[in-house]
Amino acid sequence: MTLSERDATVIWHPYTQMKTAQTPIPILRGEGVYLFDENDKKYLDAVSSWWVNLHGHSHPYIAKKVSEQLSILEHAIFAGFTHEPGVSLAERLLKILPGNQSKLFYTDNGSTAVEVALKMAIQYWHNQGKEKNKIIVFEHAYHGDTFGSMSVSARSAFTTAFDSLLFDVISIPLPQKGKEKESVIMFESELKKHKNSIAAFIFEPLILGAGGMLMYEPEVLDSLISACKNEDILCIADEVMTGFGRTGKLFACEYLNEEPDIICLSKGITGGTMALGATSCKQKIYDAFLSDDKLKTLFHGHSYTANPIACAASLASLDLLLSEETKAFINRISKQHADFAKKLSAYSSIENIRYRGTIIAFDIKNKEGVSYFNSVRDEVYNFFLAHGIILRPLGNTIYIMPPYSISVKELEFIYEIIEKRFSN
Ligand SMILES: *Cc1c(COP(=O)(O)O)cnc(C)c1O
Repeated sequence: MTLSERDATVIWHPYTQMKTAQTPIPILRGEGVYLFDENDKKYLDAVSSWWVNLHGHSHPYIAKKVSEQLSILEHAIFAGFTHEPGVSLAERLLKILPGNQSKLFYTDNGSTAVEVALKMAIQYWHNQGKEKNKIIVFEHAYHGDTFGSMSVSARSAFTTAFDSLLFDVISIPLPQKGKEKESVIMFESELKKHKNSIAAFIFEPLILGAGGMLMYEPEVLDSLISACKNEDILCIADEVMTGFGRTGKLFACEYLNEEPDIICLSKGITGGTMALGATSCKQKIYDAFLSDDKLKTLFHGHSYTANPIACAASLASLDLLLSEETKAFINRISKQHADFAKKLSAYSSIENIRYRGTIIAFDIKNKEGVSYFNSVRDEVYNFFLAHGIILRPLGNTIYIMPPYSISVKELEFIYEIIEKRFSN
């Protein structure tokens, strides 16, 4: 049997309608920005394999560090024990995270990093005898696929079957360009209405990823965070997608004057090599759990907490990320995107061109309206695939989020194929 046939016998793929989905493409290896199939046809990974890859596939430096760690310590229980990669990574992350973060809690993906952030925030108040349990969120937010993270995400086609089981949240309009005032007013009126019952505000700083690469400005986020500080509401920055350089700075929160209390990390944390999540917090959050009363403990943990191999991959990825070479890559991609955005603005078949750092997005004008399921999406996906490029539109929205190691030429090739499809 071929790999595809064996796959069809045993595998259930993520976010895939298995009845109508195209046969998945078997990938045999990855190198640089490319994935290679059975016939050695290469696919340019313009979406960083679901936003995780930073330095290209099978990076030799990360491979070396991971393989060294494998023969030293593959895993150890992280309750009652500790290890070098887990501690080193926390030390290094806390040093570069914005906003005086002082403790780091490990999980193994973005959804659980968010779950932990929510638990930290709600129990922070509970431990002080205050029952604040409401969460304020943005419309179109996406924070993950577990029940807690789904609850703080927008209700959508993805959540319909579960809506009755998700906890209620307070949702306010996203302060996109021109809608800032409306959003701030609504935010402040909700804070008043739910006085002393809101535990936290959770947000994707500056770019809402799965919601459609929707962008907004740091100034307005600053004013929302500041409103929260006045009302004693914790602020949770979900940097799962925006972290590790995507927005042009190491973390999107670096664009802010205000500081989040809690930060969620995953995706790029290991450079796209291993599953790892982390939730950092300020000292005051951590301190609220310190007690002789065992009930004030944060009762949360995963079997693979702080997996040493994942931590080693992450440490290696950080070495690469913090190098002058990668910083230059990120700046150059940002400049290329900005130039390309100018070019795109002449095309009448697209609209809402937006970019920040290494991410550029635009919407296809579509008479069917905006939907994750519209037919344009599939047609466009297949068009790019036929040209050897992996671009997975989010409904009407096309975006590029490449690994930082992409060359000038490789990025120009993506632009060229986009122009071929959308130029007038
Ligand atoms: C992808 C994503 C998550 C969920 O991460 P998983 O690792 O897929 O569970 C959470 N928040 C944001 C902003 C994301 O983009």
